[in-house]
Amino acid sequence: MTVRVRFAPSPTGMFHVGGARSALQNWIYAKQQGGVFVLRIEDTDAARNKPEWTEGILSALDWIGISRGSYEGPYFQSANAGEHRAAATRLYESGRAYYCDCTREDVQARTGSQYQGYDGYHRDLGLGPGPGHALRFRTPDEGTTVVVDLIRGEPTFENKLIEDFVIARGDGSPVFLLANVVDDMTMGITHVIRAEEHLPNTPKQQLLWDALGVKPPVWAHVPVVVNEKRQKLSKRRDKVALEAYRDEGYLAGAMRNYLMLLGWAPSGDREIVPWSVIEDEFRLEEVNPSPAFFDEKKLRAFNGEYIRALPVPEFIDACQPWLTGTGTLAPPPWQPEEFDADAFAAVAPLAQTRIAVLSEIVPNVDFLFLASPLIDEAAWTKTMKDGSADLLDAAVAAFEALESWDAESLKSTLEAVGAERGLKLGKTQAPVRVAVTGRTVGLPLFESLEVLGRERTLTRMRAARLRLV
Ligand code: GLU
Repeated sequence: MTVRVRFAPSPTGMFHVGGARSALQNWIYAKQQGGVFVLRIEDTDAARNKPEWTEGILSALDWIGISRGSYEGPYFQSANAGEHRAAATRLYESGRAYYCDCTREDVQARTGSQYQGYDGYHRDLGLGPGPGHALRFRTPDEGTTVVVDLIRGEPTFENKLIEDFVIARGDGSPVFLLANVVDDMTMGITHVIRAEEHLPNTPKQQLLWDALGVKPPVWAHVPVVVNEKRQKLSKRRDKVALEAYRDEGYLAGAMRNYLMLLGWAPSGDREIVPWSVIEDEFRLEEVNPSPAFFDEKKLRAFNGEYIRALPVPEFIDACQPWLTGTGTLAPPPWQPEEFDADAFAAVAPLAQTRIAVLSEIVPNVDFLFLASPLIDEAAWTKTMKDGSADLLDAAVAAFEALESWDAESLKSTLEAVGAERGLKLGKTQAPVRVAVTGRTVGLPLFESLEVLGRERTLTRMRAARLRLV
């Protein structure tokens, strides 16, 4: 039997990192089993779906390594409405479902509680289809439903505690629970790997599989992803969109490696491993069923390591979208014609060891391309002290006299200027750095001055000096 798995996102918002993790787990499982990965867009909630969210899902999957054309689909749930209705009709005709026109208030009045589930009132009243008549599944009165779950063992549910749930609304439209089962059935899905939040639906869905006469799939409910307060990651509170991480400059390789580490680890206490190791070693059965902490700090550190591991030319290429402001990225502060690729290439190796996400490249190099630096006023006030004017005067004079404009000469020259004033190099550098780059932190100063060049460096130092009058 060929293993067939599916990833079935609903296009109702930005693509969630938890979704990306389920997609990768499905993807790897299919690959390991020589199976097929199916992408199904569950777009039946017409009020909340937008076509751009679907496009967002496809491009985010593409980015993370599940590329268009390498899987089956995308299928659209809305295209299968006929099958969903046919299944509802079959369940009705075989006596496994019945119509009911009770309102919530009716049920409440009978049971005396708003918390009570449906009481089965219409089970044997023989109500036929009609406007406002919902179709309910007749759940068994006895026995248990055992869900075989690769991660959670065999969660067992008492059938008598499962209410006769609605499978089609009063307007005849099948509900998600049924549509999802019918699609999995029609698409020959053998393993359903999905988020834990769907576990409570699973006994109901399995009863539907049984009632429709098809062997249910094997389930695997992967744990929720939580923030540092152990709260489920939510789009209102946390940064959850995969696109947000992409736009900030996380590398796809770092991101997907990190996502796979949520609740699982490769052998030998390693965390950063080649993707092929993850593909070989990952075992769905080994995923820890408890909630997985999405640690953005750790992800940042991870990403920094991936950035440092890039060959320099690849690093330079990877920075381009932020240097040009492509797509959804903010444009850099300089004009396109101000950008100088050679100057960038000269400082790129210095920047590569210092940034954790690619978007940080911009504030590190903007001083090279802007006509005058963006001065951080707080940094200016903190750095420019009583002796700064004198120091800048002396540094300008010493730099003007330099024969060779290289990092080493610049360093020894400034060091001497400081020493004459009893200052260590760090203290001497600070006003020069703020004058030239506008900031107190950044790339190594003397290499930066070398690349910036004599004229521009001196002009900025003189301008800063004038501000100090
Ligand atoms: N469309 C559902 C969701 O996005 C997935 C349901 C499933 O995987 O069975 O949560």
